[in-house]
Amino acid sequence: MYEGPVQDLIDELGQLPGIGPKSAQRIAFYLLAADGGQIDRLLAALQRIKSEVQFCQICGNVSEQPQCRICRDPRRDPAVICVVEEPKDVVAIERTREFRGRYHVLGGAISPIDGVGPDNLRIRELLTRLSDGVVGELILATDPNLEGEATATYLARLIRPMGIAVTRLASGLPVGGDLEYADEVTLGRALVGRRTLE
Ligand SMILES: [Zn+2]
Repeated sequence: MYEGPVQDLIDELGQLPGIGPKSAQRIAFYLLAADGGQIDRLLAALQRIKSEVQFCQICGNVSEQPQCRICRDPRRDPAVICVVEEPKDVVAIERTREFRGRYHVLGGAISPIDGVGPDNLRIRELLTRLSDGVVGELILATDPNLEGEATATYLARLIRPMGIAVTRLASGLPVGGDLEYADEVTLGRALVGRRTLE
């Protein structure tokens, strides 16, 4: 549609989640009119997420250090691990203030259509964490949609034989959606009312 750099920018923006062609075009023209300072700050922020942010070597959450703030915190209960799909789900559960254990971020959910199987998720790392016998409960807080449920079922079958209690968030969350779309009261209630998977 447009020439050279403008179209390149629209194409790149259009690759971002939730940004359709119209939004990509609107953002591109906004940036075209923006002053140099704003562009520099945006560029610097983009570069810093690559150079300064890493993934926690224990739980897989985003972190500025080899181990994230939650894994480093001795007040967090090491006997309970809450399994989530993405780092943004950690933020959603932290907002409820109902959870004092630790997390494990899978990096997605099982989805055959998207070519994501158990081997593409951080499941091996989870099993390694569970092998020291400290963890007594694993809370499966994957999203309340098809992929999240499939992942929870898979993990429950895998982990229950290890003698660890496996629980799932109570129903009441918006079905089919992302965990992050639930407000903190609803999510907090689902966490407190979690049920053991038989
Ligand atoms: Zn961590």
